[in-house]
Amino acid sequence: MQKVFSSRRDFLRTAGLGIAYTMVPQFLTCSKSIRKEKLPNIIIIFCDDLGYGDLGIYGHPTIKTPNLDRMALEGQKWTNFYVAASVCTPSRAGILTGRLPIRSGMCSSKRRVLFPDSAGGLPESEITLAEVLKTKGYKTACIGKWHLGHLPRYLPTKNGFDYYFGIPYSNDMDDVSKLPWKQKFWNPKTEYWNVPLMQNEKVIERPAEQTSLTKRYTDETIKFIKNNKNNPFFIYLAHTMPHVPLFASKNFQNRSLRGLYGDVVEEIDWNVGRILRTLNDLKLSSNTLVIFTSDNGPWWLTYKELGGSAGLLRGGKGSTWEGGMREPAIFWWPGHIKKGTITDIGSTMDIFTTICKLTGAKIPDDRIIDGVDLRPVLFGTGPSPRKTIFYYRGTKLYAVRKGSYKAHFFTEPGYGKNRKVKKHNPPLLFNLEQDPSERFDISKEHPEIIADILETVKKHKAKLVIGENQLEKIIKK
Ligand code: MG
Repeated sequence: MQKVFSSRRDFLRTAGLGIAYTMVPQFLTCSKSIRKEKLPNIIIIFCDDLGYGDLGIYGHPTIKTPNLDRMALEGQKWTNFYVAASVCTPSRAGILTGRLPIRSGMCSSKRRVLFPDSAGGLPESEITLAEVLKTKGYKTACIGKWHLGHLPRYLPTKNGFDYYFGIPYSNDMDDVSKLPWKQKFWNPKTEYWNVPLMQNEKVIERPAEQTSLTKRYTDETIKFIKNNKNNPFFIYLAHTMPHVPLFASKNFQNRSLRGLYGDVVEEIDWNVGRILRTLNDLKLSSNTLVIFTSDNGPWWLTYKELGGSAGLLRGGKGSTWEGGMREPAIFWWPGHIKKGTITDIGSTMDIFTTICKLTGAKIPDDRIIDGVDLRPVLFGTGPSPRKTIFYYRGTKLYAVRKGSYKAHFFTEPGYGKNRKVKKHNPPLLFNLEQDPSERFDISKEHPEIIADILETVKKHKAKLVIGENQLEKIIKK
């Protein structure tokens, strides 16, 4: 029978007790084997607005990313890996809870992300990956952009993280410059945005000095690794970059042929290299899973060359075309992961379930978890259990991928003042394996595939309980 937990505290208490009971006899009888089966450390590096085509290993001709390229060659490079939403807040709710943001109320069609005047945040009843890993004794850190609620009750330290260092929302918020858009973003200065930098629950710098954020986040990550090298640790490193306004530190400015955007990505790459080197130096690499991906597609639709590239994919940030939601994704764990390029389907929500399975942590069973276990693919023992992707824009389902086919019920440009929603009946249908750029509608040739996808939608909607909307709550003045 399914046990229903009234809150995440109940879940965590029960999960924790379960561990206490099961661990004691093991310690008494087979302490050697426990020592052998050390829990793996986990590092998730989550970029902001990095596109599918922005890394060397994903085909970018002028951005140099030798560290990420090597990481991919030593591990797995996924080519059909998706996020839970095409903008920041819902995408982050998805990766940390393993659930579609519609279930937690962390998406909205009116206010697509949280803002400094938002009163909502990730509900207390949601269970984050950090909270689940705490039940297994992990030390946990959130370093970087949070964007799941900036009020004290929603901060990372209230969501399972022992340590927090970063900015609570996007780096283009708290705009105090009053300068024209073009001038502000094309020649950015850190003082134009009064964004706070926080440590745990305190603001330690305001405005956050943005040119050094990528390096300082990495310094904090390395410090946390070194301080916890004898415990299992989980670090969620959510880079502020390459979200506009773009900032690179002095050593990286004017370095890339791709301009400022390239400078910023090359700095991220160099700092990924520092983290992997630290793991190697401390002899932790064979016991640490590192995952690199991004929260949504590139913002070129609005910011032109200041936004990244979705490569051969259509659209970008904000849209439910592939460019908005398919991301580069690299899994690295030397000696464990079967090297190669993976064309199976995966999602950031699967990271939650996969890590629970890897660590033996209890997966919440009182709610729908959308993540699936990707271990068969990571270890080369079988295909991905994921066959379906739901593309929500705000609270509305715009498209569904099933196998190689994707049906669009609605399309809409990611951004733009005069954009219009287009309804498609019959839905547009693309074969993403043969037509990754979504150019050739084959709906007329395949009514049976559309019927099958509609059946999948019906089943999905029948079980869907929509969470109380968190993004439309505004602080009363
Ligand atoms: Mg983003």
